[in-house]
Amino acid sequence: MPMKYYLAVYGCQMNISDAERAAAVLEQIGYKKTLNMNEADLILVTMCSIRQSAVDRIHGLVDKFEIIKKEREQTLPAGRQVQTILTGCVLKRDKKIFVDGFDYVLDIKDIKRIPQLLGAKTKIKNQTDYLDITPKYENKFSANVPIMTGCNNFCAYCVVPYVRGREISRPAKEIVLEIKKLINPTSPRLRGAKEIWLLGQNVNSYSNVLKNNRIVKFPKLLEMVNSIPGNFWIRFTSSHPKDFSDELINAMATCEKVKPYLNLPIQSGDDKILRAMKRFYTVEGYKNKIKKLRKSVPDIALSTDIIVGFPGETKTQFNNTVKLFKEIEYDLGYISKYSQRAGTAAAKLKDDVSTEEKKRREKVLTDVLKQTALEHNKKLVGTTTTVLINEPKNDFWLGKDEHYRTIKVYPNKTASQIKIGQFVKAKITSVTPFTLTAEVI
Ligand code: SF4
Repeated sequence: MPMKYYLAVYGCQMNISDAERAAAVLEQIGYKKTLNMNEADLILVTMCSIRQSAVDRIHGLVDKFEIIKKEREQTLPAGRQVQTILTGCVLKRDKKIFVDGFDYVLDIKDIKRIPQLLGAKTKIKNQTDYLDITPKYENKFSANVPIMTGCNNFCAYCVVPYVRGREISRPAKEIVLEIKKLINPTSPRLRGAKEIWLLGQNVNSYSNVLKNNRIVKFPKLLEMVNSIPGNFWIRFTSSHPKDFSDELINAMATCEKVKPYLNLPIQSGDDKILRAMKRFYTVEGYKNKIKKLRKSVPDIALSTDIIVGFPGETKTQFNNTVKLFKEIEYDLGYISKYSQRAGTAAAKLKDDVSTEEKKRREKVLTDVLKQTALEHNKKLVGTTTTVLINEPKNDFWLGKDEHYRTIKVYPNKTASQIKIGQFVKAKITSVTPFTLTAEVI
């Protein structure tokens, strides 16, 4: 019987991508994937540290693993036991805590050591960096391609620089090669990806020096990926507003495969709070960049990230965020209530906005967002859009269009031809703030 592994993946697309690399390592040493945690010989967790609630969830898992281990070990052959690995974004202080609850707590950069830890005899290819490991891509039509790791920004509320280290950009040539393989429809493992997500904690500061000393910055990288022949979409995340340049706006406007959607996290609509968050841009500067972007890419769909209830945020300061939301008219927004993370600069500040008030602020912004998104969407009724199908439902398919809008696609007579991972043209028939309904044409 082959050994089985179960993946518990938490957090962002980068963690999903990391888990795909860990899975590739495990498969190289003969492990097979299971979707049932209770029958696994190895449980690998990629953890997220962005909020305390995410860390608390891992504590809950430790208790669960104890029970699984005891139950499974009664049925396993002598000498065989269930093992657990914790990796992903783990703070140094949490590593010390979790070392008792897991068999191994590993830096994500050290996943190459997994075979050695598990006593595997099979040797895996010697990669110098963990990003050199070819992932076991889970999604056959949408692929995550990390272009850099780490972050140099140290925003006051964020643990990422502490868990991922400083920024390191992958060689541009390596990224282009990986994407060429991903979009190749004859590749047996990948079957032709239709959507490529370029990932990094701050893709806008991507920088790679070529052998001839030429520097490839993110806009140039977009151009290089865009020039790869094939029918695929390019998306990217995350973007820091301070590094969102005119060159990038120009690349977004001229690269036809780069789709008109941007997530540009503002985090607060108040300059004093932005300074306290150590974000290093102003509301006015952000608005100017959006203005330029809209001029160059008029149909751009915009989303943002916001933290409500940052330490010291007054009602007036929060109202500045509401004002900004109304002014920008986002299509999508990821609104989170501030929670203290040990080790960050903000942890030294008093978490003085009550939970009730944070909830109220979250609701106020959500209401504004719903209103602006609905107004935008209403204008789309009767127009056509291209949808990348990603999930079948009972009587419709779910997909995303070029603007990253969620679309419910209903069939017409040719509907049986529709497959997951296919681009279809559809006419929008009705809308809600965050979902559009369309019919295949
Ligand atoms: S830029 Fe993003 S990842 Fe980096 S510290 Fe700020 S919030 Fe965290």
